Amino acid sequence: MPPLHLQHSGVYDYHFCPRRYLLADACGFASQVIAPVRAGQTLHRALEIYHRLKADGEQVTPERRERIFERAWVRPRDTKKAKREYEQLFGVFDTFAGEWEGEYENRRARVIGTEQPFYAAEGSGVLAGKIDLVRERDERLEIVELKFHQNPMMPDYPSKQLEHYSLAYSDEHPRLVVHYLKENKMQEIHGREPGAVREELAHTFEDIRARRFPAQNKPALCRLCPVRFACAQRASG
Ligand code: SF4
Repeated sequence: MPPLHLQHSGVYDYHFCPRRYLLADACGFASQVIAPVRAGQTLHRALEIYHRLKADGEQVTPERRERIFERAWVRPRDTKKAKREYEQLFGVFDTFAGEWEGEYENRRARVIGTEQPFYAAEGSGVLAGKIDLVRERDERLEIVELKFHQNPMMPDYPSKQLEHYSLAYSDEHPRLVVHYLKENKMQEIHGREPGAVREELAHTFEDIRARRFPAQNKPALCRLCPVRFACAQRASG
């Protein structure tokens, strides 16, 4: 039997509630919140271009930042919103890139790669994904997840994601960082030991293969669950 292939979002859904995984990832009910998708896409594209240039040792001047953003911008259909949204998102990108330009130019930080493919094979499955940014800062390897903003519905999502990504570099004990772009705030995550993360992954793959999808049925979780409308076992309250 071929190994099960999952992305971090599937594992996250399963740990939140196995029934959520069944409904969202196996049956296709929408699981992730999609409102800020356009803003996230624009910023991801702009930052990917920026980090590729920095990995190549290029200087990125303010004028160049404007051109990068022009290329990356996902324009909304509503033209009335466009100007306001452009200014807001360009401001977020420009603040980020302007601050980091100094770090890179002074060689306090170095980009190693952006959108780095990631795989972790454990037991009967493979976890795959792409790491937003891998860099060296103050002589230490750093894995960075770039998020538009903190999502109150899934506050632990980035930390779990970084724990998974750290498996690709576990011998180097990387620093794990989430950068919330809208708030321009960095948060360091202290993940669990790689052995514990690997063991949990192997169990998760095994449980999914065995089709174990019990419902958590807890009001505190069901309230936050994006597929509750499709779940016959949801708890009320
Ligand atoms: S509504 Fe509750 S029981 Fe149903 S999938 Fe979501 S968390 Fe699980």
